[in-house]
Amino acid sequence: MEENRELRELIRKAALVNAVKHGGQAQIGPIVGKILGEKPELRSKAKELTGLIDKILREVNSLSPDEQKRIVEEKWPETFVKEKAEQEKRLPPLPNVDKYHMVVTRFAPNPDCALHLGSARAIILCYQYARMYKGKFVLRFEDTDPKTKRPALEFYAAIRYDLSWLGTEPDLEVIQSDRIPIYYEYAERLIKDGNAYVCTCQLTYFRERVLASQPCVCRVLSPEEHLSRWNRMLTGGYKEGEAVVRVKTDLNHPNPAVRDWPALRVIDIEKYPHPRVGTKYRVWPLYNLAAGLDDHLLGITFIIRGKEHLTNQVRQEYLYRHLGWNYPEAIHYGRLKITGATLSKSKIVQGIREGLYKSWDDPRLATFAALRRRGIMPQAIKKMIIDVGPKTSDVILSWENLYAYNRKNLDQTANRYFFVQNPIELKVKYVQKAFFARLNLHPEHPERGVREYAVKPDADGIASLWVSSKDLDASKAGVMIRLMELFNVKVESVNVYAVQSSFLSESYEDARRVKAQLIHWIPEGQDMPCEVVMPDGSVAEGIAETACKGLNTDEVVQFERFGFVRIDQVGKKLTAYYAHK
Ligand SMILES: [Zn+2]
Repeated sequence: MEENRELRELIRKAALVNAVKHGGQAQIGPIVGKILGEKPELRSKAKELTGLIDKILREVNSLSPDEQKRIVEEKWPETFVKEKAEQEKRLPPLPNVDKYHMVVTRFAPNPDCALHLGSARAIILCYQYARMYKGKFVLRFEDTDPKTKRPALEFYAAIRYDLSWLGTEPDLEVIQSDRIPIYYEYAERLIKDGNAYVCTCQLTYFRERVLASQPCVCRVLSPEEHLSRWNRMLTGGYKEGEAVVRVKTDLNHPNPAVRDWPALRVIDIEKYPHPRVGTKYRVWPLYNLAAGLDDHLLGITFIIRGKEHLTNQVRQEYLYRHLGWNYPEAIHYGRLKITGATLSKSKIVQGIREGLYKSWDDPRLATFAALRRRGIMPQAIKKMIIDVGPKTSDVILSWENLYAYNRKNLDQTANRYFFVQNPIELKVKYVQKAFFARLNLHPEHPERGVREYAVKPDADGIASLWVSSKDLDASKAGVMIRLMELFNVKVESVNVYAVQSSFLSESYEDARRVKAQLIHWIPEGQDMPCEVVMPDGSVAEGIAETACKGLNTDEVVQFERFGFVRIDQVGKKLTAYYAHK
């Protein structure tokens, strides 16, 4: 290996590039990984290779950072240009940025449910655009409906946590239930100016009139009359459903749903107290008034949201005209569907209420809490959303798309372990000596260390191991099987309790020649009980190798030939949540 000039040069380049990136000191792990990635045939010589890399690394690290940089720029000038281009896979620019002193975006959830993947687009695009233009990202809790979209205290905290997990922490947080007097002030101004009125009509009558482009009996009354009705609303003179403030629009607007839209209403607050402000307010602003006012008052310059909000923009533009304001830039992206994921808030809430889902992080849900529990990394979600961008067409993704992004993150970081599902005993006869298996924690990062297991025969030359019953059935009788990194056996018989086999040879080549199946195993006595909670809520029972005792909660590992899992609990029993293959 020492003689191979091409290999030496490859290592030297990787080491120099890595050193420049890390302030002069190259790290061995990424270089071993890179070389083995490019030359997988060297995997069997990992030890020798590591030695060679170590030697070259020492030479490279002894150079001054300036010298390292000079060599890279001279010999491989393309290296950094290429890396930069890859890193900066960026969002398309926002329109009319020059018009504004600063880019300000907002994410405005109602804290009545846990956030799910459907919100990822709004959160990540708004956050990312604010960063891209060195602007501000605002989190605004829209909690002004204590009746039908009743907020709950737990969700304010859960949403804050989700945002911080996603790496999208807001620069400012605003809660609408703290701002009720502000909405009152503007309601009064709109009424005084004749741009809004208090309507006390029956809803069916009002609808009839508005569909015919005709005013209701209230609309034509004087602003003074409406101001007195407004005061009556505030002081409890109207019960729930008896009065609503409406913002005036063109009664001939082609969309009847836009005409004289409701802005504030009375709520039976004794029956529906607000979780934060209790019974303090009986008049509550509706979505378009509160969101419309706040976007202006908080200096939001770019509203980035789903295209289902287009009609709301039309409604709010009347409000802005009444108040002499300019509407912010609005970008409406298409729907993002994930095939097979329940992204309907009402279905999730119903499922929780009926006990179909155990909790907000039930693995069957696509809530951020559930994804987190399963070991889906926030970086994977972020990358997927940025790649999709803010296009207006609908986008359909599958779980597999998200898994592919996640796998890219985990492949290098997740260490490997053996988990034997539904174990069955494998007896191996004619084992002449004890075998000591050294299994890399990661095939491309030998520097991370190994798990070591001794497989010793008893006095009769029989070794006992656990293997998965999935891997061995009666059809395997007479077939050669390789126990990964251990030895080859010939299966003799298989029944429900045990598999009888005999030792064949140690060499991997023998197994490769006959394309023998490679299976994983755990020596008897070197196991711990383990259960893996699957995405459909079922549980895969089995055993894990004892090295798993050293794992920590939240660590994501790969159970070989099974899939990536996040460690949920480590005790006498290991509990993990399944991410994907
Ligand atoms: Zn009316």
